[in-house]
Amino acid sequence: MSIAEDREAPAAPPGRTEVEVAIVGAGLAGTVLAMTLAKAGRKVALVDPHRIHHDEFRAEKTRAEQMGLFEKLGLGPVFRSLVTPMTDVNVFRFGHLFERKQGWEYAFSYTPLVNGLRAALPPQVPLTIGKVAEVSTGPDRQRLVLTDGSVIDARLLVVATGYSEAVRRAIGVERVEESKAHSLSMGFDLAITPQEFGLQSLTFYGRRIADRIAFLTIFRIGERLRANMFIYRTVADPWVRTFREDPEKMLMELMPEIAERCGNFAVASEVEVRQVSLTTTQGHRRDGVVFIGDAFATTCPAQGDGIHRVLTDVDCLGSTHIPAWLETPGMAADKICAFYDDPIKIAADERAMRASIYARRITTETGLEWRLRRLRNNTARRLMIFARRFREAGKLSDAAPGVREVALDHTDNTGQELRAGPRVRT
Ligand SMILES: Cc1cc2nc3c(=O)[nH]c(=O)nc-3n(C[C@H](O)[C@H](O)[C@H](O)COP(=O)(O)OP(=O)(O)OC[C@H]3O[C@@H](n4cnc5c(N)ncnc54)[C@H](O)[C@@H]3O)c2cc1C
Repeated sequence: MSIAEDREAPAAPPGRTEVEVAIVGAGLAGTVLAMTLAKAGRKVALVDPHRIHHDEFRAEKTRAEQMGLFEKLGLGPVFRSLVTPMTDVNVFRFGHLFERKQGWEYAFSYTPLVNGLRAALPPQVPLTIGKVAEVSTGPDRQRLVLTDGSVIDARLLVVATGYSEAVRRAIGVERVEESKAHSLSMGFDLAITPQEFGLQSLTFYGRRIADRIAFLTIFRIGERLRANMFIYRTVADPWVRTFREDPEKMLMELMPEIAERCGNFAVASEVEVRQVSLTTTQGHRRDGVVFIGDAFATTCPAQGDGIHRVLTDVDCLGSTHIPAWLETPGMAADKICAFYDDPIKIAADERAMRASIYARRITTETGLEWRLRRLRNNTARRLMIFARRFREAGKLSDAAPGVREVALDHTDNTGQELRAGPRVRT
């Protein structure tokens, strides 16, 4: 299998390296897996075409659950050194404050995060700068030939090349588009400082179906005030061009209630835009090679599950499957399939996909079933807002000071429907 792509100058003279695990792609998935395996004393090669991860708009926020996985993988301290923590999220619905959510979230720019993790790679896993020219896989040995002629032989090949198709195609796997151009993510800096903003984080949910907005979230990354907005439109939609030309004007119209707090939405950077499709992989159950992170599946950024999927893949592979696979000879497909059939991996992937599909449908679908669901959810939410405002106006008795509970059958922020009708604190 050979890959004809553009050539880069090799960083080191050609040679031959023999390792237990060769990882192609040093984004979040590849780098974290390399660190985890190196900690366990495994011999690993990590290959990427770029020494410095290129500047791109990707994940910028993650939750406590993912921090738990970083901690479990032994990477808590390095991750914490690269992020801005926050604990207080002010959620607005229908233009009104809906709830103040307490719970750890972590903000970062993706490129410095990946570069920071790369910098923490132990010396026994140097990053090999190179492009894969040829790949061969089999039930015992895997071989990578880089464009400078150097060769990496391994017992197992891990493909962690994100959206890139070259290596996947050379191996012969296919991406299946489950929902093409599912959503659009927009990222930009606000001109006001975090101090002027005053809140740690704010999330504003779209009000009208016609707007096709999932939500806008505003948060601090270091000394920058950053905004991410997730919408259900294609990049070719004229609405997107209009937004990019004059984001201030559009945001003032869409979210006037929070405009003043946000410095009237004066924007201090380009509006970055990324279209994302929901994809899965076909033909991946084969000898000698395993696909992880976005190289295996992509889900909607609005649900914030991408990093969870990446870390779950790394944890399942690094803690359970790779150690077991290396204990016995061979690397045939039956071994590899144990990873794809791992219930923990399946649950993480299914959760992300289900939430991605649900969130778009509850925001945009106009059929009777979805209109009724929205009516039910929104009625409960409006009651909660009403109760809060009534109480704040001092008109409720102090019989249960501080906290009231309202029955709510609703969706949470990840788009998962909470069917049990939980008691939500207001
Ligand atoms: C706009 C946007 C916003 C997002 N927001 C969130 C969020 O808020 N929360 C969340 O959890 N997730 C979010 N995600 C998803 C998350 O960013 C991804 O799931 C995650 O970054 C995937 O990491 P990865 O390592 O699999 O891929 P990548 O980070 O893309 O890494 C792939 C690596 O492979 C390398 N590579 C490519 N081709 C080759 C080759 N031929 N040979 C060798 N190496 C190669 C690349 O250089 C790169 O280093 C978002 C995604 C997008 C697009």
